[in-house]
Amino acid sequence: MAFEMHPLPYAYDALEPFIDAQTVELHYSKHHATYLKNLNAALEKYPQFFDLKIEQILSDLNSIPEDIRMVVRNNGGGYYNHNIYWAVMGPKRGGEPTGRVAAAINSAFGGFANFKEQLEKAGMGRFGSGWAWLSLKPDGGLLIHSTPNQDTPLAEGLYPLLGVDVWEHAYYLKYQNRRADYLTNWWNLVNWEEVERRFAAR
Ligand code: MN
Repeated sequence: MAFEMHPLPYAYDALEPFIDAQTVELHYSKHHATYLKNLNAALEKYPQFFDLKIEQILSDLNSIPEDIRMVVRNNGGGYYNHNIYWAVMGPKRGGEPTGRVAAAINSAFGGFANFKEQLEKAGMGRFGSGWAWLSLKPDGGLLIHSTPNQDTPLAEGLYPLLGVDVWEHAYYLKYQNRRADYLTNWWNLVNWEEVERRFAAR
């Protein structure tokens, strides 16, 4: 069974004014959908991989035949990373986390303000295209880090709880070259309930 798009959990214009409707539409229906299409096309040659979860595939890229490994790494990563990105945002969100994830963030990063600063720094420090993440380490601790291109935290043995896309296609129409402004505004969209759900599910 081929991998499928997760429905966008809100309308294209729901993230206004922080992310404009045209960006969300292009990002979801063109960029994200193309990663998925390319992933499925590559796996047609080795359909046994359709039986796996995308997390399993991306956690063990060495098990993917070499002739499609880079396509799967880039496009499978693009598919998975964007699934998280859309899910951890929403209209009328933002604010501060509560519960266990808030306690874990405070303990790991010395407070929410420091956490935000460090995640923004990870996003700003990514030269070119990539992602900034809050991930769970195998020992249960939290880590802020960045990946290039569409590489995933899974490939490093980490489990992503929150991710922000810093490819220009995520912000250029509204913010042009101002990635920092996009990141600052992005906090107004973070769906902490979903982050908490991902944290609790591990
Ligand atoms: Mn993207």
